[in-house]
This record gives sequence, structure tokens and C-alpha cells, in this order.
Amino acid sequence: VLDIGHDLGRVVLNARGFEREHRLVKELQALDVYKTRLIATVSHELKNPLTSVVGHLELLTVLDELPARATASLAAIGRGTTKLARVVDDLLLLSRVGDPERLVEAERVDLLGVVAEAHDLVRVEAQRREVALAPPRADGAPARLVVEGDADELERAVTNLLGNAVKYSPPGSEVQVVVRSRRTAGAAEVVVDVVDQGIGISAEDRGRLFEEFFRSTNPEALSRPGTGLGLAIVARIAAGHGGHIEVASELGRGSTFSLCLPAATP
Ligand code: ADP
Repeated sequence: VLDIGHDLGRVVLNARGFEREHRLVKELQALDVYKTRLIATVSHELKNPLTSVVGHLELLTVLDELPARATASLAAIGRGTTKLARVVDDLLLLSRVGDPERLVEAERVDLLGVVAEAHDLVRVEAQRREVALAPPRADGAPARLVVEGDADELERAVTNLLGNAVKYSPPGSEVQVVVRSRRTAGAAEVVVDVVDQGIGISAEDRGRLFEEFFRSTNPEALSRPGTGLGLAIVARIAAGHGGHIEVASELGRGSTFSLCLPAATP
């Protein structure tokens, strides 16, 4: 009887612990929704006045009767505004992507097609930086490289990864992108690997890559323009699709970012 009482006590204690954890998870989820809404509202409120500032700046810069000092100041305001606009656009995107409710209407998406589109978008920037962007490769039967989700979001995720690979690579190096299928713990996955021979990421930085606004303190990385929101957006899109990102990297040698997504049922 004592034993039974003891076991029962443990069960009750476990149940209480479970209840507490469950409540905590619910609270965290509610806070996350609140945070996303706040980001959406703030970035939306910033977007309109910013659009007006950009428009007026463009009007001013075409005037020829401006004194030289004013022209220099206008150029500085222009640079600041461009940076601000980039942050606001990325914040808006961050608050929009990976919403599981929107993904209820998921469509079948051919990831190779998505990668081809993203590749097209990044090609000009690669040429400008003299980075060789190899044509996308498929490793596996095309029918296996299909996922369920939002094609636009997936294209954004791959574009961000490819854009970073090009941005953080020296001229003369190569960036590759491969779409492949694999089985992990019995489940079929489609994986997009973006491989660069760039500056690499330290082990310390690797743990923080997906935080909003995180940028490496590595001076080589900081010399490139960025908002620190690109990978947070990618991580959100991956999670919204039931997937995740894997990173392998070595400082000074290069990085591989893998977007891993559950494969669509055939
Ligand atoms: P950013 O706008 O700064 O590029 P991201 O969120 O896309 O923001 O990336 C966060 C940081 O991760 C970058 O500032 C950079 O330090 C590092 N990083 C991302 N991708 C790469 C890469 N392919 N090679 C080296 N460093 C990278």
C-alpha cells in the first residue's frame, strides 16, 4: 500500500510538472505571437513615412542649383535611408513568413525550380563580385525533390542563403547549390546545400547565426552590407515548413548551409 501511495505521489508530481511545462510553452507561444505582431505593426508604420522620404530625396537629388555641401549631405542621407529601408523591408518579411496558418493552403513545390529561380536572382550580384556561381545541380530523381509549402517563401530562403554565400566569398572563388533527397530517422527529406569557399564562420558565431540582428564581429564579414535579419528569415521559413537549417563551416575555408525540408508524400 505504501509503495502504491509512493508511486501515485510520483505520478501526481509528474502530472503537475507536465502541466507547468505545458503552461510555460503556451505562454512562450503567446509571447512569440505578440512579438511577431509588434514587429509587423512597427515595420508597417515605418514603411509609409520612409517611402515618402525616399521619394522626396529623389526629387531633391535631381535639382542642379544645390550648393556642394547640400549635395554631400543629401548623399549621406540617401545612404542612411537605403540602409533603413532595407531593415524595414526585412522586418516586414520576418513578420510575414513562416506563419503555419498561411501554410495550411500549402501547394506542392518542385525545389529544383525554386533553386533555379533563386539562382537567376543572385547571378548578377555574383558576376559583380566575380564569384563563380555554378549552375544548380540535382542529386536524385526529380519526383523526390518535391515539398509542400509556399513557393515564394522557399525561393526567398534559398535566395538569402545564395546571396550570403556570394556576399561572404572572395573574388575568384566558387559557390555551388545542390538539391538532393535523403532519409533521416526513416523520414524522407529534401535538402538544398549551398556551398561556398568564403570567409567561414567561427564556432562561437555559429551558435548565434539565426538570432535577429546578429552580425559577426569578424571585420571581414562586417565590411559587407547587411541587416543581420537574412538568416532569421530563413530559419523562420524552414521552421514554418516543418524543416530546419544545418551549418558546417571552417574559418577562412568556407561554409555549407543546408535547408532541410520534409519531402512531400508521392
Ligand atoms: P547579414 O545581413 O549580416 O548578411 P544574415 O542574418 O544573413 O545577416 O547573416 C548573419 C551573419 O552570419 C552575417 O553577418 C555573417 O557574419 C554570417 N554569415 C552568414 N552567411 C555566411 C556565409 N555564407 N559565410 C560567412 N559568414 C556568413
